[in-house]
Amino acid sequence: MKLALQSVFLAVIITFQFSLVTVGQTNTANPVLAVGELKVRVLQDAQIYLQNSYLTGIEANEAKKLTGGTDSVLTPVNAFLVQTPNRIILVDTGAGKYPGEDSGHLMERLNDAGIDPAKVDLILLTHFHFDHIGGLTSPEGKKLFPNAIVRVSKAENDFWMRDASLIPENLRERAAKIKSILAPYVSTKSYLPFLPDENLGEGIKAIAANGHTPGHTVYSFTSKGKELWCIGDLIHFGAVQFEHPLVGINFDSSGQMAIASRIDFFQRAAKAHIVLAGAHLPVMVRLEKKGDAFVATPVNAY
Ligand SMILES: [Zn+2]
Repeated sequence: MKLALQSVFLAVIITFQFSLVTVGQTNTANPVLAVGELKVRVLQDAQIYLQNSYLTGIEANEAKKLTGGTDSVLTPVNAFLVQTPNRIILVDTGAGKYPGEDSGHLMERLNDAGIDPAKVDLILLTHFHFDHIGGLTSPEGKKLFPNAIVRVSKAENDFWMRDASLIPENLRERAAKIKSILAPYVSTKSYLPFLPDENLGEGIKAIAANGHTPGHTVYSFTSKGKELWCIGDLIHFGAVQFEHPLVGINFDSSGQMAIASRIDFFQRAAKAHIVLAGAHLPVMVRLEKKGDAFVATPVNAY
């Protein structure tokens, strides 16, 4: 069954391979970080091996040194739970379940947090790669979050959801799969794309962070003067790209734009002491700028 999941990830990154690890290694700890009145949890859905060879703009030897002498890094696939005084919000939904694979743990993590999926009322998607949207819908095509409104940037929506004839041929299969995952939300009017920088209510803001995909979005949550950003895929290799933010990854849709977005958001986060929650980082972090590099420190309390 490994092939089934790999083909989905392959569809994400076209020719670059993710491989999943054996069941039982997923980090089940999901402590709560208080951000003002908000409660934020990392929900680890899956783990994948990312190959150093995906990196661009760095010598293989240098990358290997930074990743602890290995050619690949075991990397989490995270969603995030944000509880406000009157809303239950998910940012991304993980990869979904694949038999025999270490994926699709989102529901278990929600259960650990005492959250009934039917109580989730808002799902914010950073982008449409399958390791972020796979957990929305069951294999039978049913909503897994029956009462949630699903939101994504209009740019991401317009790229993937337009008429198939307008989508480059090599991406049509992917687009069809994205449409089928979203279909139960679209058909019940629970899917609402938003315009750039739209205020999504209650201290929640979407900020365009294009480059990884055409409509990749960072979500900002503010409460009582504290701020947290869910940064999606602004960074994949924590061991490499904080120290070398100009290093890219070869499945960014625009490498240059992705690098510019990363540096811009990291600089702003370092300056304003904003906590960053990355879909592929093991923990939430705060940044400090040191020359052209960033130093990331895990945040356990804020
Ligand atoms: Zn991702």
